Amino acid sequence: MSATAILAPQREKSLLRRHPWVFASAIDNIKGRCNKGDTLDVVDSKGKWLGRGAYSPDSQIRIRMWTFDKNESIDNVFFVRRIEQALRLRQRIFDPRNTNAYRLIASESDGLPGVTIDIYAQVAVLQLLSAGADKHRDKIVWALKKLLPEIKVFERSDVDVRLKEGLEPLVQPLSENVPENVDIIENGLNIRVDIATGHKTGFYLDQRDSRFAAMRYAKNATVLNCFSYTGTFACYALKGGANHVTNVDVSQPALDRATEHLKMNQLDEQKCTMVNEDVFKVLRSYHKEEKQFDMVILDPPKFVDSKASLNRAARGYKDINMYGMHAVKPGGLLLTFSCSGLMSADLFQKIVADAALDAGKSIKIIERLGQAADHPVLGAFPEGYYLKGLVCEVTE
Ligand code: SAH
Repeated sequence: MSATAILAPQREKSLLRRHPWVFASAIDNIKGRCNKGDTLDVVDSKGKWLGRGAYSPDSQIRIRMWTFDKNESIDNVFFVRRIEQALRLRQRIFDPRNTNAYRLIASESDGLPGVTIDIYAQVAVLQLLSAGADKHRDKIVWALKKLLPEIKVFERSDVDVRLKEGLEPLVQPLSENVPENVDIIENGLNIRVDIATGHKTGFYLDQRDSRFAAMRYAKNATVLNCFSYTGTFACYALKGGANHVTNVDVSQPALDRATEHLKMNQLDEQKCTMVNEDVFKVLRSYHKEEKQFDMVILDPPKFVDSKASLNRAARGYKDINMYGMHAVKPGGLLLTFSCSGLMSADLFQKIVADAALDAGKSIKIIERLGQAADHPVLGAFPEGYYLKGLVCEVTE
């Protein structure tokens, strides 16, 4: 017999809307024994069955829902079903001859809270962020290997949010002979992903469409690529006919990989400069020197971790966008992004507009960008929308 969580009166509304989180404050009491990660039934204050989820005793998000279907039990077949559905969706999105790396499971958005699976050609990188996901590691891996028999699996659960769930960071191969570097193709470009020590699961798959946009706008342009990581925006821009790209990142290994990416794509190394510096510093000194580019890309890491840090983050975004605009030649383009889920698209646009005023510039938004199609947003879980981008023409 599994345990049952009984909700406080009037606290069932979000579950009736199939939102997958139950906060600690919504639970009246729990009947029966329940350990970290165990599956439990959730009922409303009158005892009506609502769904089934995983117990996270250490987290404010106390239960993450697996299912709202009473007939669905959380077994191997459940994980096969969820992953199969997600796989079918990705198969409609991609032509594997062109792009063979994609997010297969985007956590809540694919019905598996706490589970991320990124596919890099023949390797899957698994990230388990919640107690429930961690508990079912074997079933998830079993299901994945059943659906993709050739796949090798590597776990990259080295993320701080695990601590909130009372879980230690963990990095481990889950198949034999998993390579540390995996070569993928994305829109026909060759990219080498360091799955063992690269950021996140190794690569920023979510920016695929934005990189493609950079290619479309790059003809004959001089480009400043801020927060370049492994320089893939630069490869796309050069492929699109850019005259020159400057990559700026604080990580030397990322910049070394950026140089490798130029070679792997037969791009002219003379047309790309690597700057290992803080972007804030670089932009200020370019402003002083009045150095400008036809196109500036700003793809910073997440500035907002919590609602409390939103104001400080807003100032950071405004500052960087103001200096970013100073670096754009009159009539040139700014491609600016925010991957902070807590910052709404409206607020981001407002911050960019304010930055233009402060810079004494005028901007026209000509295109909106966002997370690629393999990072879907579930209707019941709007929190899944996090990556926003604006393409702006900048004039005096
Ligand atoms: N545009 C990249 C992803 C950028 S991720 C892509 O499409 O792949 C953010 C990058 O910013 C990381 O590589 C990180 O090393 C770098 N970074 C973080 N803070 C920085 C700073 N203050 N100055 C320069 N780079 C920074």
